[in-house]
Amino acid sequence: MVLKRVNSAGTSKVLLEENLREIGELFGKNGQELVSQLPVELIAEMVAYLERNVIAEVETGEGGKVRVCCPSCLKAHAISHARKKGFGEEVVEKLKGLSPMNAGHFGYYMDNGKLVKLDSE
Ligand SMILES: [Zn+2]
Repeated sequence: MVLKRVNSAGTSKVLLEENLREIGELFGKNGQELVSQLPVELIAEMVAYLERNVIAEVETGEGGKVRVCCPSCLKAHAISHARKKGFGEEVVEKLKGLSPMNAGHFGYYMDNGKLVKLDSE
């Protein structure tokens, strides 16, 4: 099912229910519900991050597969992106609440093989 078409930089991107499920799976039991409360443009950026940082494909109980990336790094990237694009602190707080894990690792996160410094909290 197509959730919404997202336009950015002149390209049209289709955000699928499967994408939402993949991102939600990374954040545990309530991940799905929490992720669905985020702006669609931000979810699309999280999907793009996942696509360039896939570590593995994991089989789900229902016979499907989801792609997996480091959820701490994804969380850090999403927070950084939300601040850069001015999504507001309410959205940043929702991202922080996605899971109890820290955003990034010791002030850094990985993106496409590069170490990125996370802005101080
Ligand atoms: Zn990480």
